[in-house]
Amino acid sequence: MKSEPMTTWTPTNAVQPKRDVWQAMARGFRGRCPNCGEGHMFRAFLKVADHCPACNEDLSHHRADDLPAYLVIVIVGHFMVPLALWIETNYAPPVALQLAIYLPLTLVGSLVLLQPVKGAVVGLQWAVRMHGFGGSED
Ligand SMILES: [Zn+2]
Repeated sequence: MKSEPMTTWTPTNAVQPKRDVWQAMARGFRGRCPNCGEGHMFRAFLKVADHCPACNEDLSHHRADDLPAYLVIVIVGHFMVPLALWIETNYAPPVALQLAIYLPLTLVGSLVLLQPVKGAVVGLQWAVRMHGFGGSED
C-alpha cells in the first residue's frame, strides 16, 4: 500500500496581508527597501543586499534575472528610435554625428535606468510575495 505524503497546515499557508504593489515598486525604483522605504536595497550597483539595513527585511529571495535588462532595452529603445527617426527626417545630419550622439546617449540612458528598474522589479516580486518573499519556499 502506497502512503500519501502527509500535509500539515502551517502559518505560511495562512492568508497574508496584501502589500501595496505600486508603493513597493516606487520604493524599489528609488533604491529603497520595498518594506520600509528607508534602508538601501542595493549593496553594489546591481547587487541586492540580503537584508534591509533599516528593518532587516529579507531581500535575498529576489529573482530579477534578465527582466530589468529587457525592460531597460524597451524603455530606452522607445525613446531613442523615435528620436533618431525624427532627427533623421527633419535634419538628416551626417551619420558620424548621429552615432556620436545616439550611442553615448543610449549607453548612459541604459546605465542610469538599470538600477532603478531592477529595484522596481524586486519591489514587485516582494509585493506579490514571489520566490519566498511570502515566507515559504520558491
Ligand atoms: Zn527595510
